Amino acid sequence: MADTRVSQAGLRQRSAPVEPGSPAILFDRVGVSYGRGRKQTHALIDFNLRVAAGETVALLGPSGSGKSTALNALAGFVRPTSGRVRLAGRDVTELPPARRGIGVVLQSYALFPHMTVADNVAFGLRAQKTPRNEITSRVAEALDMVGMSGYLKRLPRELSGGQQQRVAIARALAIRPAVLLLDEPLAALDAALRQSMLAELQLLKEALPDTAMLYVTHDQAEALALADRIVVMNDARLMDVDTAENLWKRPPTSFTAAFLGGANLLPCTVGRVISGSALVTVGSRTVNADAPAPALGHDDWGPGSAALLCVRPHALQIVSTREKDAFTATVNAAVWRGAVTRLVLSVQSLPDVLVDVDVPGHTPFEVGSVVGLRLPEPAGVLVSTGNAP
Ligand code: ADP
Ligand code: MG
Repeated sequence: MADTRVSQAGLRQRSAPVEPGSPAILFDRVGVSYGRGRKQTHALIDFNLRVAAGETVALLGPSGSGKSTALNALAGFVRPTSGRVRLAGRDVTELPPARRGIGVVLQSYALFPHMTVADNVAFGLRAQKTPRNEITSRVAEALDMVGMSGYLKRLPRELSGGQQQRVAIARALAIRPAVLLLDEPLAALDAALRQSMLAELQLLKEALPDTAMLYVTHDQAEALALADRIVVMNDARLMDVDTAENLWKRPPTSFTAAFLGGANLLPCTVGRVISGSALVTVGSRTVNADAPAPALGHDDWGPGSAALLCVRPHALQIVSTREKDAFTATVNAAVWRGAVTRLVLSVQSLPDVLVDVDVPGHTPFEVGSVVGLRLPEPAGVLVSTGNAP
């Protein structure tokens, strides 16, 4: 197992000097457009983000939302159409990629096929004109960190996908970058390997306490496992940014509510609001809901205003139809998923939505059967109606 763990040896990092008070990474109103005229795509619009030294931020969003474009603008692989990118206070917008001192790991590994593992890992050091004897020790250190010390002389084609990705990470680490960018580094691996590599990346993150990391993924499990903060991207824009816990418990937008973990968004009308808690009417019922202060740019929850009640599938309960306060619902689908059975229900007093419910275990439900549905207490958290997915 030794080679599947990130070694704890040789972990100390020498980072570039950081200008006091400047974030390790700064995107300042960055816009990127591809093409011209009618073919123009706005891939990134007015993107602002600060990442502190030692912080890991995940860019999470669906395919095509602009995640890689943001990463590439920082790495220097694409040129921003507007705005600036800064590293430790230094404006690097015009610098070529190799002179930015950033470590980059891509989904496709992008190892040089004709070079040995050692030469691949040494590549950035040679480009920096590092002395030969220092290259040897730095290559050894970087390979040790990803558990690949024994593979110096191998060619990439003699390695498995997971091993190639480890070498790609070692190559990025060899220059001891203050900033490490990873673009869907696990996406090409099979599910089991993805899990073990994710655990290794967690160890790697701990081993690099001063390194700022930007981690692009469309997989919320990866973002939750690794990130100190998550940026949710949609349609070329930053939708929300916060800790995973805050985004999960109090999603500022319906997009984030649905994208992070899946959520039922039930249309409701707000009644009385008292310090973070609201009475809301959902279909035929009036229930309590958490009412966090709405995100900037949205109005307060005024009495009579429309909102969405975010209820997670696992929080709902199937009960007898005779139970007081239960909604009457019909089972449209029941799919066993292992730990839970996912039901899709149509609810009598909520004609416009289908409601997902996760019941524990393998519970057979007949399609077409009528059940009672009970909301938790509080029933959920209010989310603004804007920015529906
Ligand atoms: P993500 O990484 O979130 O999947 P991307 O940043 O790769 O998204 O892409 C954002 C948008 O920009 C998409 O609409 C994509 O088709 C477009 N795009 C990306 N790269 C290019 C390119 N080199 N030329 C033209 N359009 C591109
Ligand atoms: Mg991408």
